[in-house]
Amino acid sequence: MKFKKSQKLYNKGLVNLVGAVNSPVRAFASVGGNPLFIEKAKGSKIIDVDGNSYIDYVLSYGPMILGHRHKKVQKAVTKALKNGYSFGASTENEIKLAKIVCDAFPGMDKVRFVNSGTEAVLSGIRLARAYTGKDKIIKFSGCYHGHQDSLLVAAGSGLATLSLPGSKGVPEGAVKNTLIANYNDLESVKAHFEKHDDIAGVIIEPVGGNMGVVIPQNNFLKDLKELANKNGALLIADEVMTGFRSTFGGAQEVLGVEADITCLGKVIGGGFPVGAYGARNEIMENVAPLGGMYQAGTLSGNPIAMVGGIATLSTLKKQNPYKQFDAVGVEIEEAILSSAQKYGVDVTVNRFGSMMNPFFTNKKVTNFEEAQTSDTKKFAVFFWEMIKNGIFLPPSQFEAWFLSSALTEKNISKTKKALDNALKAVS
Ligand code: PLP
Repeated sequence: MKFKKSQKLYNKGLVNLVGAVNSPVRAFASVGGNPLFIEKAKGSKIIDVDGNSYIDYVLSYGPMILGHRHKKVQKAVTKALKNGYSFGASTENEIKLAKIVCDAFPGMDKVRFVNSGTEAVLSGIRLARAYTGKDKIIKFSGCYHGHQDSLLVAAGSGLATLSLPGSKGVPEGAVKNTLIANYNDLESVKAHFEKHDDIAGVIIEPVGGNMGVVIPQNNFLKDLKELANKNGALLIADEVMTGFRSTFGGAQEVLGVEADITCLGKVIGGGFPVGAYGARNEIMENVAPLGGMYQAGTLSGNPIAMVGGIATLSTLKKQNPYKQFDAVGVEIEEAILSSAQKYGVDVTVNRFGSMMNPFFTNKKVTNFEEAQTSDTKKFAVFFWEMIKNGIFLPPSQFEAWFLSSALTEKNISKTKKALDNALKAVS
């Protein structure tokens, strides 16, 4: 396998881009080697500049749930481009996408579109503070909520990949109202409520996807919501990753919990930059122009992104691929476990619908600490062997793999063979 052109572009990219990437998770920092440069993608596959073709389980870190360049999305967006691409004024498609989103989440009467998951969460946090008049926020170790200052503590995703406890450049004052609890540990949340009476909200990834996949145990989310509300705080569900992915109504629907504020991103734009936050009317009425909480955006509700979102979500609703995702997920999970057993490799697989990943540990993984018991050196060997076998995975132990509805049976059997080879290489 050749990476000559990728290597050349990487060296060229280093001159004017930091690490030749625009997001550190793309840097291959923890698996060694240099990032791949991508030329194009179609359906279940992504193709690099050297012409190497891979079955894609990164899917742009989640958004491409229908696979790449789905014909309905491509057609809708191409048509929309002819009418102009940014107006700084309202369009009917914003109302259409808002209805699709609010209909999917019963706890959402109103929604506000922004441009990224980071913006969605920072606005959701501000809203919790505006509504409750309180300042403190509880977050969970290993959860990642975008790169806003106040939540860059004990965070997953790229920070976990790079083993960073937080970020330089974040002033102490910015994190003084952030309290850290442990995932799946209600007592650690209770302890904060016992000590502080000014907690505005508890923010959580309802299924952790940024420390690898970590699933809430028992009634953790329901108990969390009850505990938060009992103490006058809101439950903020960061469904940037899980929204429209776990099922159409997100992880909240699967887990039977209704958050007070929901943050969305990724799938709702289908590959175009969209984020959103929403809640019941009484909460959303605090947002300007109705209320005193200010939040704005030059490109928010961008007409092309709205069309991309509408085409993606309406196709997704029609396809209803969630049962199929589960079946494919089980097949891949079983393939990992049986090859791991064959070669004597310690592996724990966590999966929630179309999000999954293996940890190289013999421990159960229910929180960040347990996720960090995974042997990341083994993951690096595994990752490169998968690349050699034509499978594109996130280049980090602490990122989720995603399934798309474009996967074919042939893709899945190729993936299973690759898994067998990669686990053999790890042993
Ligand atoms: N929240 C979660 C759960 C995420 O996974 C991410 C990104 O991976 C974000 C927020 C931030 O979203 P964005 O990268 O679009 O700013």
